[in-house]
Amino acid sequence: MKTTMDGIQEYCFAAEKTLGKLAKWLRILGFDTFYSPDLSGKQLIDADLKRILLTRTRKIRDLTVSKKCIFIVSNDPFEQLREVIQAAGIIRRDILPFSRCIRCNALIRRVSKDFVRTMVPEYVWESHDTFRMCALCRRIYWSGSHTRRSRDIIESLFV
Ligand SMILES: [Zn+2]
Repeated sequence: MKTTMDGIQEYCFAAEKTLGKLAKWLRILGFDTFYSPDLSGKQLIDADLKRILLTRTRKIRDLTVSKKCIFIVSNDPFEQLREVIQAAGIIRRDILPFSRCIRCNALIRRVSKDFVRTMVPEYVWESHDTFRMCALCRRIYWSGSHTRRSRDIIESLFV
């Protein structure tokens, strides 16, 4: 992880409250993304998070001349994701898909099948062998059809 001169970590983001879906997708790609549905771009600047600010607010963009900020133009979450990838210079090998909890941004770790026996629906437990758990909220992840769809979407971002 590289840190720029002004202390902002490369590929660490803070998304303002209007960019919830974008924040979720950045987490799916594995990027450390701070997001709270209550916090505006202005509040994120005031919090001085040492992260690249993602904003759709023109006024905020003009306020952040000295700080790193990506101004998002599109209304569509996937187009927004493309905008971030392009502006931040992210390439395929920078991403680590499905390594982070989409709900709370914490890293998720592999857990044994036995461990999750009573924590996932019976049919899921019987049909999967690989499970991961969020260290913070203890949400369990497994590779279902949603993941396959997500993988296709991710690959389409880097062609
Ligand atoms: Zn979590």
